Amino acid sequence: MNSPQAANESGLLFVISGPSGVGKTVLCNRMIQKFAPGVVYSISGTSRAPRGGEVNGQEYFFYSREAFEKDISENAFAEWAIVHGNYYGTPKSFLDEKLANGLHVILNIDVQGALKIKNAYPECILIFIMPPSMAVLEERLRGRNMDQEEALQNRLANARREIEFRHEYDHVLVNDDLDKAVTELADIFRKHFQMGH
Ligand code: ADP
Ligand code: 5GP
Repeated sequence: MNSPQAANESGLLFVISGPSGVGKTVLCNRMIQKFAPGVVYSISGTSRAPRGGEVNGQEYFFYSREAFEKDISENAFAEWAIVHGNYYGTPKSFLDEKLANGLHVILNIDVQGALKIKNAYPECILIFIMPPSMAVLEERLRGRNMDQEEALQNRLANARREIEFRHEYDHVLVNDDLDKAVTELADIFRKHFQMGH
């Protein structure tokens, strides 16, 4: 369902947001694997330290704060934001090149970034992923076993703030049963592939 656009048509830009731990990564990976193998992820830059197993250029491009600030001053990011105390940004050159080549791109970014992208790329499609409840979100964050208690509480507080912005999005999807959510996400993509925007 994901055939790239004809050479003269630009690709579609999908922006996925939702609280940390809601399942954005798992959901998008499965959706791409099952239904849309040609859709590409934009790899963000960040000033946060790599977590165990993360490889530069794979999950993120890892920057020092100084290098990140230099790229900001050179307008290298389509958007950037401070999330949980660190810089995160979408490299502009990668995004523009893929879209110009007719490839569809997914940005997995926070609410602040999504709203900036909507301004800069008004045709983009905004999708918000909701947890079935805050209790389930907390369970998933704990299950992922990635954070100290303080960082976890910080993510939960941030989640409450992010959820307030769901009405700004074109689609809101609840990730309760994973298979069902993957199918629903694929349906959203399919609809936009058919419409061409
Ligand atoms: P995000 O990218 O939004 O931060 P992840 O994709 O890393 O979140 O998912 C967080 C955790 O929740 C992972 O351990 C993942 O396996 C689990 N998870 C994701 N979706 C579901 C679901 N529908 N049901 C149960 N667990 C889920
Ligand atoms: P993590 O550190 O857990 O990988 O990501 C933390 C948060 O940063 C997530 O909510 C994620 O959506 C957001 N994020 C990742 N990349 C970007 C980006 O390029 N821009 C913005 N604005 N947020 C991002």
